[in-house]
Amino acid sequence: MRFKGPETVDCTVIQHETPTAPVRTCIGCRKRELAVDLLRVAAVRDGNGKCAVSVDSAGNLPGRGAWLHPVQQCLDAAVRRRAFARALRITSSPDTSEVEEFFSALSA
Ligand SMILES: [Zn+2]
Repeated sequence: MRFKGPETVDCTVIQHETPTAPVRTCIGCRKRELAVDLLRVAAVRDGNGKCAVSVDSAGNLPGRGAWLHPVQQCLDAAVRRRAFARALRITSSPDTSEVEEFFSALSA
């Protein structure tokens, strides 16, 4: 007669209660925040080899991105501290007009 083991074999690996959500640092205020609560921006090159910062609202822009709270103060701080160029690894100051328009539409 074969020995019958327990009905269920408990071999589950111990898992975290909640999956670790990605956390990013806002380039404006430098606070760490869940990525879902931040706005992603990415550098896109225009035809003249200059860089512009584009709002990645769909989350699918390629290239290096930066993260920002969707509030005007963080945008202002990021622009003032030239955080875009640093975070996006751009040597010259990028054109941030698209981001600025996006933020002014948010607060409108
Ligand atoms: Zn912020």
